[in-house]
Amino acid sequence: MGKTLAEKILSNKSGVDAVAGDIVIANVDLAFMQDTTGPLTVNQFYEAGFSKIAATTKSAVFLDHAAPSPNSNLSNDHLTLRGFTDDTGTILSEVGDGVCHQIVAESLAKPGDLIVGADSHTVTAGGLGTFACGMGSTDVAVALSLGKSWFRVPESIKVSINGEFPLGVHAKDVILYLIGLIGADGATYRALEFGGNTIPPLSISSRLTIANMAVEAGAKAGLFPADELTLEYISRRGDEQQYQTLYPDNDAIYEQVIEIDLSELEPTISRPHTVDNTVPINEIVGTNIHQVVIGTCTNGRLEDLEVVASILHGKKQHPKTRLIVAPASRGILLAAIEKGYIQTFIEAGASILPPGCGPCLGMHQGVLADGENCLSTANRNFKGRMGNPNAFIYLGSPASAAVAAVTGEITDPREFL
Ligand code: SF4
Repeated sequence: MGKTLAEKILSNKSGVDAVAGDIVIANVDLAFMQDTTGPLTVNQFYEAGFSKIAATTKSAVFLDHAAPSPNSNLSNDHLTLRGFTDDTGTILSEVGDGVCHQIVAESLAKPGDLIVGADSHTVTAGGLGTFACGMGSTDVAVALSLGKSWFRVPESIKVSINGEFPLGVHAKDVILYLIGLIGADGATYRALEFGGNTIPPLSISSRLTIANMAVEAGAKAGLFPADELTLEYISRRGDEQQYQTLYPDNDAIYEQVIEIDLSELEPTISRPHTVDNTVPINEIVGTNIHQVVIGTCTNGRLEDLEVVASILHGKKQHPKTRLIVAPASRGILLAAIEKGYIQTFIEAGASILPPGCGPCLGMHQGVLADGENCLSTANRNFKGRMGNPNAFIYLGSPASAAVAAVTGEITDPREFL
């Protein structure tokens, strides 16, 4: 019987011929934590009596959510996490290096890997053909020490994306459209597996954006095949090991197949306060925007910043709108400086934040005031997500965010192209 990508990876990592519904114990290639979930993970690790990381598993700690730290409690958490990396030989990604999921994609994830992270958007690495999923701190602590974890092999939903992107429509619009279509619980504990004739030429950056938000439909994983483009990306990272392409079998069994015809897609926006509350942008043009945020693990990559720079070049942010840009990693920031994008943003009036999560989770660096509206390229717009339950968060593509920064209101980006 043919296998889906999830079945293939979990079979390989568990050493059994697994199908959807089976429970397997599988070897974990990478287990990681970040600075808000890390302290509990470390605590659980030591409380369970563990002292060493499994020899077969890579481990990493990312200081990215509160980076640089805004208060002494979080600084002390950073201290604890640095101590853990010293004691265990865990990789430390320091303040300013970038968002965990971007660094994992840039340097750690490989096709066919099994990754667990104490962060729900660990699914991002699925853009590289990796089975990657978020887990609670205790489960990650166990995976760190034992090098394995248990999984129920998920049923898979195939999302077949076909056609070419219309002008002004981007990967973010595709995933927002899909989540609006199936709902926040439309893929609960399923693997969303992406295919169709749009995928072979789809950039890795776009794949990561789509995989990143699979969890917003409840999915356990969001998986792209590892194709020639994936292998090229991995070899550009300087990885000398040879990897194989990884595709689902032609006769793999899917619980459901969803077809998306790109020619019918429009720029899409999620309205407050749920991600699945989506509309085509022309239904809410004119909504005042007080703050625009460009960045995060969803849309803080160079390709995103390029789109933003092309719109902002020679323009200024609206006098009543603040523009915040947070590149997703140090490497992206450097490349954006080299290409002149950062100069364009600064000349447009933007505040540039150090690589990291920035204001995405409402800890610092751009908390909204009561009644304010924000258009963000992030992945969540729950009430209070950006630090104020009396504020309103809209989600959109980097293009939609950039034009709103200029006009001060939600605006169809196609008018600017
Ligand atoms: Fe979470 Fe936002 Fe950081 Fe991504 S950028 S890991 S969604 S806080």
